[in-house]
Amino acid sequence: EVVVDRLLKRFGDTTVLQENSFTIRDGEFFTLLGPSGCGKSTTLNCIAGLERPTGGSIAVGGRTFVDTEAKVFLTPEERNLGMVFQSYALWPHMTIHANLAMPLKIRKVSKADQTRLIGEALEKVGLAHLKDRYPHQLSGGQQQRVALARALVYSPSVLLLDEPLSNLDAKLREQARAWLKRLQLDLGITTVYVTHDQDEALALSDRIAVMSGGDMLQIAPPQEIYRTPATAEVAAFVGRCN
Ligand code: ATP
Ligand code: MG
Repeated sequence: EVVVDRLLKRFGDTTVLQENSFTIRDGEFFTLLGPSGCGKSTTLNCIAGLERPTGGSIAVGGRTFVDTEAKVFLTPEERNLGMVFQSYALWPHMTIHANLAMPLKIRKVSKADQTRLIGEALEKVGLAHLKDRYPHQLSGGQQQRVALARALVYSPSVLLLDEPLSNLDAKLREQARAWLKRLQLDLGITTVYVTHDQDEALALSDRIAVMSGGDMLQIAPPQEIYRTPATAEVAAFVGRCN
């Protein structure tokens, strides 16, 4: 369970997150949906520990990650979360195996365990046979799956995905979407997903938080958002004309 309470973020005088509270259930696929600049990545980065909130708290599995009042702040390493960024950059000069070994080396995992965990993670994304290749020898879709395997390799409690399909063309996106949903169902891992693509959000999510200007306008399952949008802005954004 991810519990976010009154998460506030300011950059100088600009408030980019306006005291948002939400709880993500175990195993849930939770999507932050909204236009460019509405605060999706900032929210994800606060959960990951890459940004410090101005106010509020975040706890995962009962463990406080950050609490501005109690002055608690865990580093990204201490949080053990898997993250895939928008550009999902793999290290180009390293093989797929070496790319996946990196986060394990940082965590001081033994060589033997590294090999086993890397094999298992690549198995999950169906790419175990490509471990000795370099990123440029893989298709865009395969690279994206390797990035996901790298985020899964140390068994994170929560997976944070920031527009992981944005670099793929329309056809690959469609495939990756189906495949991502299946993987999430198989693994049952709690996933926080960021996108500005309504179709993607509707297809993948258990619940969606529709964001605008640092606010969460509505948090509900896709059908509910589509059928009974809370505001005209939500309706407009999910493509429903009222
Ligand atoms: P996109 O869909 O374009 O990725 P987003 O919803 O992820 O957008 P954020 O990256 O969270 O948006 O940014 C929210 C707001 O905060 C934007 O107005 C952005 O310019 C601002 N912002 C983000 N990071 C910083 C920073 N380090 N310093 C100042 N302002 C920032
Ligand atoms: Mg972003």
